Parts: sequence; C-alpha cells; structure tokens
Amino acid sequence: MQQRSQPLWPARLTLMAFLLALCIASLLLWQQLLTAQQERIAERVSYQANSLARELEASLNDQVEGLRRIAQLWNQRGRIPRDEWTLDSQFSLTHFKSYQAIQWLGADLRMRWIEPLHGNEAAQRVHLTPAHPNFNLAIQAKASGEARFTDSFALIQGGRGFILYTPLYVRDALNEQVFDGFLQGVFRVEPLMDELLANLDSSEFSAYLLESGRPIYSREQTDALKSLQQQVPLQLLNNHNFALRLQPSERLVQKLTTPLPEFVLGASLTISLLLVAALALALENARRASALQTSNLQLNEEVGQREQVEQVLRDSRERLQLVLDLTDSSQDGLFIIDPHSRDILHMNQATYSSLGYSAEAFQELFKRDPEQLLPGFNGWLEGVRQAHQDDLSTIFQRQMRRRDGSKQAAEISAQLVIRNGHEYLIGVSRDNIERLQLEAQLQQLSQQDGLTGLYNRRYFDSQLDSEWRRLRRLGAPLTLLMLDIDHFKAYNDQFGHLAGDDALRRLAQVLQDCLQREGDVACRYGGEEFAIILSNTDLDGGAHVSAQVHQQLAELHIAHGASPLGYLSLSIGLACVTPNAQEQPDSLIAHSDKALYQAKHEGRNRTCVWRPA
Ligand code: GH3
Ligand code: MG
Ligand code: MG
Repeated sequence: MQQRSQPLWPARLTLMAFLLALCIASLLLWQQLLTAQQERIAERVSYQANSLARELEASLNDQVEGLRRIAQLWNQRGRIPRDEWTLDSQFSLTHFKSYQAIQWLGADLRMRWIEPLHGNEAAQRVHLTPAHPNFNLAIQAKASGEARFTDSFALIQGGRGFILYTPLYVRDALNEQVFDGFLQGVFRVEPLMDELLANLDSSEFSAYLLESGRPIYSREQTDALKSLQQQVPLQLLNNHNFALRLQPSERLVQKLTTPLPEFVLGASLTISLLLVAALALALENARRASALQTSNLQLNEEVGQREQVEQVLRDSRERLQLVLDLTDSSQDGLFIIDPHSRDILHMNQATYSSLGYSAEAFQELFKRDPEQLLPGFNGWLEGVRQAHQDDLSTIFQRQMRRRDGSKQAAEISAQLVIRNGHEYLIGVSRDNIERLQLEAQLQQLSQQDGLTGLYNRRYFDSQLDSEWRRLRRLGAPLTLLMLDIDHFKAYNDQFGHLAGDDALRRLAQVLQDCLQREGDVACRYGGEEFAIILSNTDLDGGAHVSAQVHQQLAELHIAHGASPLGYLSLSIGLACVTPNAQEQPDSLIAHSDKALYQAKHEGRNRTCVWRPA
C-alpha cells in the first residue's frame, strides 16, 4: 500500500508564473511612475522654455522701443536734426547695452549717420544693394511700412549680428509721404543673447538659439541632458525663423526626480518575492507533511514485516537450538567437517567429550593433527571418498585415540555431501566396544561346546583346515589326537546321564590342563569323542600329550564299575603328518581314527600311533 505523493512541478510552475506576473506588474508600475516623472520634467522644461521665449520676445520689444519712438518722431515731424537724433540714439544705447550701433541709412540706401562711430567705422561704406543679404527684407520693410528684424549675418564690423530695419518717411512739398531711408538698430548676436538670457539660472539649463534649425548661440552646461531637451519657437520682433532650445542639467533633473518609482519597484518586488516564498514554504510544508505521513505508513508496515521476520527467526533459532541440544544428548558423536580445511562446522558433545577433550581442544587438535584423534585419518578420508564414488557402504570400523592415549573402538558412518562444489563430510561415530565384545562372545559361543566349554566340531573343522594350509606353507608337522572314552555307554547306564555329563566335563578339564603350547586346541568332536590339534608338533610331542592325558585321567580315578579297570579311561589314536598339496585334512582325521580303532581293538586305555604303510 505504497502511497505516491502528488507531483510537485505543477504547483511550482504556478508559483513561478505567479512570481513572474508579480514582477512584470511591478516593472510596469515602475515604468509608469518613471514615465510620469519624465513627463513632469519635460513639462517643467517645456514650461521654462516657453516662458523664457515669451520673456525674450517681450524684452527685445521693450529694448527697441527707443528706436520706434525716434521713427515716429521722424515720420511725424520730418527728418529730425542730427544733434537731436544723436541724443535720442545715445539715450537708447545707454539703456540697452546690446546695441552695436544705431544708424540712419538714407533713401538711396547709403550709410549716413552712425552712433557711435567708434568701433563702427567700417559701416560708413555701407550701400545696401540687391547683393546684400538684407536687401529683400529691407525692401519688404519699406513696402509695408513696418519694421523688420533680419536673420543673423556677417557684420561689416566683423562678427555676426542682426539689424532691425525701421522704415522712415517724410512729407514732400505736396504733403505726400516719401521714403526717407531706414533707422537701423544693429545688434551683435552674443551680447544680445547674453543680455536677454541674463535672468536665466544658468546652472539649470543649457540654452541654444536656433536660426532656421541651426544653432547660432549657446550657453552650455556640462551635465545637460540632451534626451530631455525642449524646443519652442521664438519670434524675435516679427522674425519667425528662430527657436529656443533648452536642455535641463542633471542637477535640475535630480532636483525634480523623486526616488518614488525605485522605492515602489523595490518594495513591490520584495513583497512579491516574500509572498511567493511564503506560498512556496507552505507548499513545501504540505509536501513534507504528506511525505512524512507516507513514510510513517511505510515504516509501520516495515516494522510489522520485521516483527514477523524476527518471530520466524526466533522460532527457527529456537528449533535449531532444540535440535542442537538434542544432538548433544545423543550418545553418538555427530559432526560436520570441511575435509579440506579441517574446520569443524558442527559437532555434538559426545564427539569430543567421549574422548576426554574440550570442544576447543578437540577442534584445535583436529585442525592441526587429525591423525592424533583418528590414526590413519588421511587414508580413511580417501576410503570415504572412494566408497562415495563406488556407492559402497560408508560404515567404517576405526579406532580413535583418547586424550590419555588409550584407544576407543569407533564405528563411523560417514557421508560426503557436495554443496556448491564444496565437499562436506557428515559423520556419526559410535563407541562400539560393547557390540564388539558381544560379537566376540557370540563368535566364541559359536565355536564352543556348551557342555564342556571346549571348542566344538565346527571350530575343529576350520582350525584343522587353516592349520593344515599354514603348516603346508611352513613345511612343518601337524599332529592330531582322536580320543574316545572307554565303555561310556555302560557308565551312563550305571550312573545316569547327568553323571555322564559331569564325567565329560572333568575329562575336558584334563584335556585343557594337558595343553602347554599356544595354538594347541582341544575340541569335543562329538558325543564322548574328543580331538586335540597340535600344530607344528611331531609324533613325540603328540605321544607326550597323550601320555599326559592318560596319566591325569587315571589320577582323577573316576569310578567306573563296568570297566575292567574300575575307573574311567579312554583310548587315543595318534597321527602325525607334514601337510602337502596332494592330501586333505580329512586324511589326517582318517589316520587318527584308524589308530583309535586300533587302540580300542587292542584292549582300550592306550594310545595307538598311525604309521604310514
Ligand atoms: P567303547 O569302549 O567301545 O567305546 O564302548 P562305549 O560304550 O563307550 O561305546 P558306544 O559307542 O557304544 O557308546 C557310546 C555312549 O556314549 C552312548 C551314549 O550313551 C554315551 N554318550 C554319548 N554322548 C553322551 C553325552 O553327551 N552324555 C552322556 N551322559 N553320555 C553320552
Ligand atoms: Mg564312541
Ligand atoms: Mg566310547
């Protein structure tokens, strides 16, 4: 039940778009405020330029008022005397410093009077001809009767200047108005403009006088801003060819500029950012909360699963421990080893404690010198591998060595298991001494005669057979005594069967006592017949033993009324041969039997010897 969290990108994209929109709105607002401010500055400059232009125009009008007065006087009274003209002219010159000169140009358009002459001497030569740049304007003034202000031109005195042509008239004899030349006000450009612009605060603007679009005069500020310049038409007297251009200085702009747009931009951007950041934080918090919830659910699920796994592990560990405990209670040794490294992967307590070792000592010794624990270990291991390959029995009878050096018989059932290409040996070992003893007992019982404790007929047969073959290889003699109790039927008849058994047991003891050498064997051949095998014994040896038997039995003096002797006796047939390949052990029995028959025949209680014919 894994719960996937909602994808984040649509929310983040929306936030980004929102932020973008807020930023754009802030910028637009800023731009609008900025534009409004610039418009305000432009308005201010434009207003300034207009008022300055009007001021200039009015000022120039005022200044030329003196000339107008002289012209009126001239026109009404006729040509005024030179002295009076000079006085009036000097009055105007004194009040308006930007005059270069005041002149009268006669009706023939030649220079007549000049005030002041000093500095204007060159003008004396002036004759206004059609070639002169002001000729047409002068003619217009004459024709219209109105004053005309020229464009700037090169003054004959040097430099550039303007002239105000005011036409003069007088009455002739017929009282007709007759053109009488021009009253001329001559101005130099710079002084005129300096005078006119004297009131302008020079630190706030750069000012340009344009004539037909070309600047002819300027008062510049180094920090003037061209981009904010304003240009207004300027009518100097009745000349419309001029314009005034003002460029505000940076200082003025700064004075007019407020930090409001930047402040508003900064504030609105900050607020936008804060708003979006707050929204992003809220979004992130919501996402974290959801992720936390999801991971809590997962965690709970994992905890549940882990508890289950731990329970299973606990159960299986407990089961394993139980199995290990149970294997420890086994009398048999159980072990799993790595035959290559001789590491013991597991062993129960019986494996080491039965040999007198601690687990650690056993492990250490097995790793270091396994022959100490299991003599012939490497050979045995090979045997296990071979048996595994040949599919043979894998139960081995071995001897293990205890810590005290003594031997312990062990039956080891071993199995090779191969897992992932690696060999493991699983073994069960058992101390089988009791079974071996039991087997030995059974073995002995199977060879023993129950009544007398002597070897039985079966053992006699196999013993005679093996001794025959052994001595045949050695080329040594083998002697066989066949013994038969005399008149034993009568003994039984007289004393009863139990007494007969007892007699048989006493005789058996006699036979045992007479055997001196190891390998000599006394057997009950059947009924009241016995046999003695004497290995590697010649005829003399056999005769000695048979004599002993006769003597010792006689010494027992077992009463036997039916016997001529009055006590129990026996007859012995003795034969001695060196075994060869041509004959069988049976032949020796036959020879002894023959000698026994002879002993019986010759009167009993004696030994007869078989002699080859
Ligand atoms: P001989 O001197 O010729 O050997 O005479 P004999 O009586 O010993 O020979 P016979 O073969 O006629 O008799 C053998 C007797 O031995 C018969 C049987 O009662 C007795 N006998 C055989 N086995 C046992 C036994 O296990 N216990 C007892 N009590 N008697 C036995
Ligand atoms: Mg007999
Ligand atoms: Mg007998």
